[in-house]
Amino acid sequence: MAAAGRREWRLCSATLAEQRPGEQPRYPCGPLTGTGKHQLLVSPGACACGHRSFVSGGIAQLGVLQVWEGRWRVIPYDVLPDWLKDNDYLLHGHRPPMPSFRACFKSIFRIHTETGNIWTHLLGFVLFLCLGILTMLRPNMYFMAPLQEKVVFGMFFLGAVLCLSFSWLFHTVYCHSEKVSRTFSKLDYSGIALLIMGSFVPWLYYSFYCSPQPRLIYLSIVCVLGISAIIVAQWDRFATPKHRQTRAGRRSPSSPRVPSPGRGFVKATTVGQMGWFFLMAVMYITGAGLYAARIPERFFPGKFDIWFQSHQIFHVLVVAAAFVHFYGVSNLQEFRYGLEGGCTDDSLL
Ligand SMILES: [Zn+2]
Repeated sequence: MAAAGRREWRLCSATLAEQRPGEQPRYPCGPLTGTGKHQLLVSPGACACGHRSFVSGGIAQLGVLQVWEGRWRVIPYDVLPDWLKDNDYLLHGHRPPMPSFRACFKSIFRIHTETGNIWTHLLGFVLFLCLGILTMLRPNMYFMAPLQEKVVFGMFFLGAVLCLSFSWLFHTVYCHSEKVSRTFSKLDYSGIALLIMGSFVPWLYYSFYCSPQPRLIYLSIVCVLGISAIIVAQWDRFATPKHRQTRAGRRSPSSPRVPSPGRGFVKATTVGQMGWFFLMAVMYITGAGLYAARIPERFFPGKFDIWFQSHQIFHVLVVAAAFVHFYGVSNLQEFRYGLEGGCTDDSLL
């Protein structure tokens, strides 16, 4: 965090563990009080014991931050500020509000309720970044129309990489402040729309290889739906826990994924890898369903605070589904390559 201007930081030296039994939960100790850019997070009297306060600027302030960053402890759900309260079945292990990006990023390496959410999509991001680079570097001899096909695959990888990076970034800085959390949650939801849009591009490109008109129509529909979804995600109230079901619904692609009905559809099932796309849809829907219903933590509150909570399962299923999609699309690409890009009546999907 930038040490802009003169700011007063207060450091609470107490921890919740020092709180006397029967006492009202006080504001967790550890977070900073800042006058200046940040709102007051801890009032001096809110600490369970005496606080030390620092008046600092410039280098001195950095010193304070360093002391503070190593000191925060995970806190229970009850004492979280409202804007950090999302899933009341996760009883303990939450990060306190930490208005420092540095502290947020350092928390990637600590164990708390968001650790699994961060790592599932951070590793997914690395996976798709590598896959994308490998695909782009693939010799042109493996493509019928190298430039076009690489752009088409590039759209998919761009969607996947943006979606996964927005997601792990959101989970990392979620505890920074209300404003930062709101901004990044909008990016997170927009990322899902980008992934869905990007996924459609190569799938439509190869599935409707010989029918440019329906391909264009479907692609336009997907773009309109995707852009509308991104616009809806900018709506502030959308990110509140009340809209969990709506958000989960949006995350399972329900747009027309079925190619032209009749003969084409049967062919698509065999040659067009519909089986893989079906598996992908099942994964998305399962993930979104678990996320909306908050299963398994709903049945065992407090038992999945750190690992195997619904959001992590959902994250893993998103990465797996995107991978299955890539596999299916690669098979389609090989199929077109096998036909040498030709359009006989037989290959018309
Ligand atoms: Zn997430």
